Amino acid sequence: MVASVIDGKVIAKRLRADVKKRVAVLTSDTGLIPGLAVISVGDDPASEIYLRNKLNGLAEVGMRSMEHRLAYSTKEEFTLDLIHDLNNDSSVHGILVQIPLPDHINIDRVIGHIRPDKDVDGLHNQNMGQLLSQGGMVPCTPLGCITLLRDQLGDLAGLHAVVVGRSRLVGKPLAQLLLRENCTVTVTHSQTRDLPRLVRMADVLIVAVGIPKFIQGDWIKPGATIIDVGINRTRTAQGKIRLVGDVDFEVAKDIAGAITPVPGGVGPMTIACLLLNTLQAAKASLQNTP
Ligand code: NAD
Repeated sequence: MVASVIDGKVIAKRLRADVKKRVAVLTSDTGLIPGLAVISVGDDPASEIYLRNKLNGLAEVGMRSMEHRLAYSTKEEFTLDLIHDLNNDSSVHGILVQIPLPDHINIDRVIGHIRPDKDVDGLHNQNMGQLLSQGGMVPCTPLGCITLLRDQLGDLAGLHAVVVGRSRLVGKPLAQLLLRENCTVTVTHSQTRDLPRLVRMADVLIVAVGIPKFIQGDWIKPGATIIDVGINRTRTAQGKIRLVGDVDFEVAKDIAGAITPVPGGVGPMTIACLLLNTLQAAKASLQNTP
């Protein structure tokens, strides 16, 4: 079997085009231009690339971005004061804090200060909690994964989904979203016993571990749909940097039914979903305006 490749670039482009249309209607009807404030602290080179892609995405769909680039030495107190100001700024509909932050800044405290209705990354405890029911802001990467799965498979009800990795950013929210889709969900992590046996049961396999080519070919159920969230920087024999996923793509593509590539799978969806969340936050702000 040769798997179909789930083209995240194409699906994300479609989503961005839809957001762009909806932004144009919103702006012409109400004069409102959705605005996203982006805070970065320090100059992590990988973050720099993600940040640039996000800012380009915002401009492309007609949104406004406000960049706050802070020095590595910035104190946590200053970051919290900035968030306070952005919370009260009516031209700011979403606030995004680029991760990683320096060690002296507590990420939980920072995210906890963002107004939940402006938390377009969906990481505030209130939004995390709302994943158990409906509503709230859904984290961008998990939302992107679900969008890819729906596009590929349609109805997900009854499928056995195995999530490898239980991070707050990806694995945990994803498990809740898959339950909402009526999947049977198994969440696995670094302490899981006999991981290959569990992975072999997956109709849908989603991997967010951060270890290059971690999932081996003989762990995969023939015909499974695989979403590879991992983005790992490796070096080729020639010394060039190459991005690879958490799944050994070359082997998996001969066993799976469908698989996302790295790059060009989940990554572009994360940015498209950020734009979607920012649009939704801007629209919701109209309802909150007296
Ligand atoms: P994380 O380090 O926060 O979590 C990793 C998870 O993997 C943990 O829950 C851990 O228990 C699990 N794990 C580690 N070793 C394991 C093992 N041997 N067996 C089973 N589980 C194991 O990472 P994260 O933030 O969830 O990111 C994971 C990967 O996804 C990274 O490569 C990251 O760069 C990538 N990522 C990509 C996007 C995107 O937009 N495509 C977004 C977020 C993260």
